[in-house]
Amino acid sequence: METDLFIGGKWVPAESRFDVLDPATGDVIASVADGTVDNALAAVDAAYTAAADWASTAPRVRSEILRTAYGLMTERADELAQLVSLENGKALVDAKGEVAYAAEFFRWYAEEAVRAAGSIATAPSGANRILVTRQPVGVCVLVTPWNFPAAMATRKIGPALAAGCTVVLKPASDTPLTALAMAAILAEAGVPAGVVNVLPSRSSGKVVSAMLHDSRVRKVSFTGSTEVGRILLAQAADNVVNTSMELGGNAPFLVFADADLDAAIEGAMIAKMRNGGEACTAANRFYVEESVAAEFAARLTSRMSALRVGPGVSPDTQVGPLVNEDTVAKVDSLVQAAVSGGATATTGGARPSGAGFYYPPTVLTGVSPSAAILREEIFGPVAPIVTFTSEAEAVAMANDTEYGLVAYVYTTDLARGLRVSEAIEAGMIGLNRGLVSDPAAPFGGVKQSGIGREGGHEGMLDYLESKYIATTW
Ligand code: NAP
Repeated sequence: METDLFIGGKWVPAESRFDVLDPATGDVIASVADGTVDNALAAVDAAYTAAADWASTAPRVRSEILRTAYGLMTERADELAQLVSLENGKALVDAKGEVAYAAEFFRWYAEEAVRAAGSIATAPSGANRILVTRQPVGVCVLVTPWNFPAAMATRKIGPALAAGCTVVLKPASDTPLTALAMAAILAEAGVPAGVVNVLPSRSSGKVVSAMLHDSRVRKVSFTGSTEVGRILLAQAADNVVNTSMELGGNAPFLVFADADLDAAIEGAMIAKMRNGGEACTAANRFYVEESVAAEFAARLTSRMSALRVGPGVSPDTQVGPLVNEDTVAKVDSLVQAAVSGGATATTGGARPSGAGFYYPPTVLTGVSPSAAILREEIFGPVAPIVTFTSEAEAVAMANDTEYGLVAYVYTTDLARGLRVSEAIEAGMIGLNRGLVSDPAAPFGGVKQSGIGREGGHEGMLDYLESKYIATTW
């Protein structure tokens, strides 16, 4: 398969190309046009040229286009899931879940497009009126990661288009094919030329920097690692570009002795293993009250060891390969360091030989509280378990991180559940629930997990500027 760049409503070839690999085999599956700085600036040009017309397009029209895109994605869900699974490696069941979730952002923002309400108030002095209207921010640069190639794109494109913004999307180099498929769907749904541009590039640093230093660009919305987020925040400072940052996580999963253990195990499997552990929301550290820790570990071990690992596209597979060799090496080094520090792998714990980027579902018990695996994002199918003896200790351990994206809390005591949810420094809490992502809810983190929210009503506000008009009448 060969692909081009999508700029100004046209498929445009590039000077060079790069390969996309199948994580299940390491074989080349596509040769992708590699966007340059010139291509990136041409995409900004196209987005800027289309901006005024799109901003003044009736909200109802923008809404209907997004609704059509939702319909097309839903109609082609199986085909798109195959593509996601092929380039990312995730199990087809996860890919289908992602495509359904991704499409929902178009439906949700089709509904929100017609509700960008402002406000009117009388000034406290009574002398004038305060009118607040909402206007689109303008040209947006969207940068997405490889772990949810469909959903991270639609979670940005949906609200941006609903708000009346135009965009240049730079997808991750490991998974650009889904973003290009999305461009074709949006064009078919009626998105005018230039409103959505898609630019895969192996020179991410250069092309994104060039766009952020073009004064026509007014916003960058980034999802990816905290490390790259910091670089983009610094670059955005030069032109004071509006920023939204969805960065890394290090989610704690707390199980109190009074928890419903059946529910906690179900929730743990979802929070840990959705997407094979390659999710920013993945439970990264399990803190279990001492009196139930042995039972929790035994039951989690039994569930994890029963998972079927294989190529993502095989219908029987529950856990696919990781996305690339580097990710496997990183996961394995964290596990080996934890074991050297005294942890025991009750299942998994060693990378298999043979082709493909596989790592087995792994449970670690007796993990030292100072182990690197509790501080860094694992991004793989590994569950380290640590015990605690009091609520205060559990909250302190949960908050002992620079991240603050999500936390999971299992207890049947509602007062404790709410108290702990308030005390944990995170943008989102799963209270007796292993899944928080919902297009209708504000997704995002505090501390070094990010700035801004995606999804829900808040998600569109990130693409709108408030304009205050003072008037006397
Ligand atoms: P990443 O390495 O930060 O890359 C993310 C995107 O940034 C990719 O498109 C990448 O392009 C691009 N990029 C890399 N270096 C860049 C630079 N110097 N300037 C501009 N762009 C640059 O992250 P990843 O490994 O793809 O994704 C995993 C990370 O994403 C994890 O930390 C995860 O927690 C986070 N994540 C967060 C959320 C959330 O909502 N909070 C959701 C999903 C994932 P290339 O692919 O070409 O390098």
